[in-house]
Amino acid sequence: MRPMFQIRLERIRRLSASTLDFRFVKTDAAPLRYQPGQFFRFVFTDEEGEFERSYSLCNFDELYGQHLDLVISEVVDGRATRHLFNATEGMTAAVTGPFGRLVVPGTLPDRLVMVATSVGIAPYMPMLRQLEAPLSAGRLEVVLVFGMRDSSEFLYADQLLGLHQQYQDSGFSLLVCYSRESLDGRQAKQYEREGYVNGQFDALNFDPRQDHLLLCGNPAMVEDSWDYLREKGFKPAQVIREKYVFAKSGKPSAGTSDASKAMSDEHKRLVAEKMKKYQS
Ligand SMILES: Cc1cc2nc3c(=O)[nH]c(=O)nc-3n(C[C@H](O)[C@H](O)[C@H](O)COP(=O)(O)OP(=O)(O)OC[C@H]3O[C@@H](n4cnc5c(N)ncnc54)[C@H](O)[C@@H]3O)c2cc1C
Repeated sequence: MRPMFQIRLERIRRLSASTLDFRFVKTDAAPLRYQPGQFFRFVFTDEEGEFERSYSLCNFDELYGQHLDLVISEVVDGRATRHLFNATEGMTAAVTGPFGRLVVPGTLPDRLVMVATSVGIAPYMPMLRQLEAPLSAGRLEVVLVFGMRDSSEFLYADQLLGLHQQYQDSGFSLLVCYSRESLDGRQAKQYEREGYVNGQFDALNFDPRQDHLLLCGNPAMVEDSWDYLREKGFKPAQVIREKYVFAKSGKPSAGTSDASKAMSDEHKRLVAEKMKKYQS
């Protein structure tokens, strides 16, 4: 059984119109144990009682200290959204974990491709920190394909552009894809693209003999990407998928990265409706 520990909200920052970044601190002295990329389950308490949601750790400044950094996007009528977006410093929660298989593989591939939409960038932040050593040694190629509606939603731009600048010659490529912003009429930056993340796939020439892929964020993007990669000959173990679907009520199924398995048909219908477009 995974340990449960208590946390206290220490800082809230706005990152974009619909996204906040939360820094929690553990209330005990033990350092955080997890593999970069994993998620935790958070038990919050509101006026209706306790409820649980999953969030990936987004730590970048400090990987294994006392802090847990989360990046959370607003969901209309969402219970966790209401609780967290109205929270003040000092709010407490209980946490279990870590969970999930979306991590850097034990044996590094020739090329590691990370695909994210919106807050699906969260697990890649600590992973990128972890990968700085092999990147600076030129031992690995990393491609990050990051989708968002427009440039105002480029989360952690400073950190990602900093990494890009530092490691672009030793193997780090960044592709930022805007689904609702045209690049016509302005000088596009070298890393900017129009369209969905999947629109970049043909140019990346994926090859199952050298590539390992990580997909995270919108369930429709994850499904479409996996369909594409399966056709290219990729096996499930080479494409680790994490869908950011909402938690079911009641007891969670332990340790699965594909939380959609836990959804009722009604929930599936709602998600399908709301997520027709990757970024809407
Ligand atoms: C493994 C895992 C990791 C996750 N990590 C993150 C993370 O790092 N950051 C993050 O922001 N979220 C993350 N999520 C999603 C998170 O757990 C919550 O589902 C999300 O914050 C919405 O919770 P809520 O209580 O506000 O909405 P709920 O009360 O659960 O949902 C309210 C309504 O909104 C709909 N809905 C729920 N989610 C969405 C959505 N994404 N888009 C459109 N409609 C939706 C539901 O159908 C429902 O009708 C993760 C999910 C999983 C499974």
